[in-house]
Amino acid sequence: MKIKYLGTAAAEGIPALFCACETCKRALKYGGKNVMTRSQALIDDGLLIDFNSDTYMHFLNMRRTLVDVEYVLITHSHTDHFTFEENFCRFEGIAHNVKKQKLSVYLSKGAYEKMVACTKIREEDETARNKRFEYIIVEPYKPFYAGEYLVTPLPAVHMLSEQALIYLIEKDGKAIFYGNDTGVFPTEIDDYLIENNKKIDLLSLDCTMGELRDGAVNHMSMNEGKSIADRFAEKGLLSDNALLYYNHFSHNVGMIYDELKKAAEKYGLNVTYDGLELTV
Ligand SMILES: [Zn+2]
Ligand SMILES: [Zn+2]
Ligand SMILES: [Zn+2]
Repeated sequence: MKIKYLGTAAAEGIPALFCACETCKRALKYGGKNVMTRSQALIDDGLLIDFNSDTYMHFLNMRRTLVDVEYVLITHSHTDHFTFEENFCRFEGIAHNVKKQKLSVYLSKGAYEKMVACTKIREEDETARNKRFEYIIVEPYKPFYAGEYLVTPLPAVHMLSEQALIYLIEKDGKAIFYGNDTGVFPTEIDDYLIENNKKIDLLSLDCTMGELRDGAVNHMSMNEGKSIADRFAEKGLLSDNALLYYNHFSHNVGMIYDELKKAAEKYGLNVTYDGLELTV
């Protein structure tokens, strides 16, 4: 599998939308990898993780549209992960020559209910939507197939109003653990992975707190991410040469890309950046 990180920042981006802090000023000044858009990833060409307001720009940067995307996994409904107001762009009469009539969107019950409520307020045509989308409600520990991909939702520790999800995505004997927007999760996830003989080839973890502090309820620090990597390694859940990455960065930690990279080296992990492509 190939994964391309289209966006790697937390909700407000780096530089953050309305911010003039020193970190944001430096990110703007130096540009390149220091500029990070809202988190989103593309697996191969057809499986998209999250759909946020930077989606359009992410695909424009690749000089393509979303015509090849067949499946979308939504981690949760925070704005940096799910901007459902864009639905109408795929309606009949607006999106022509689509390859797949209905785009399959996998999401939690809570995220689905929010999408329905919001689109009602916006007077979206539900019949038109249902012609072009199928929404599939998923639950932790209940694997499903999205085309050739075996996907297992796992419970993130992130929101009170809905079950945010981590996704384990498997194909051709390889597995990607896509786990941003979560605090340190309980070892029941480890137990499930052990019971089901899973081996992770890419571990991608939340790093919203950077080196600021441990113990945030809904996010991880570098130290906590390292503790997850160590714990998985000790339990034999990582394949030989597994790739270990921090993802989902915030300007609030005060570091731009080079500084994040240097800090991450102390913990033995790598950092993502917008446009990074990895193969497992
Ligand atoms: Zn987020
Ligand atoms: Zn800032
Ligand atoms: Zn979130």
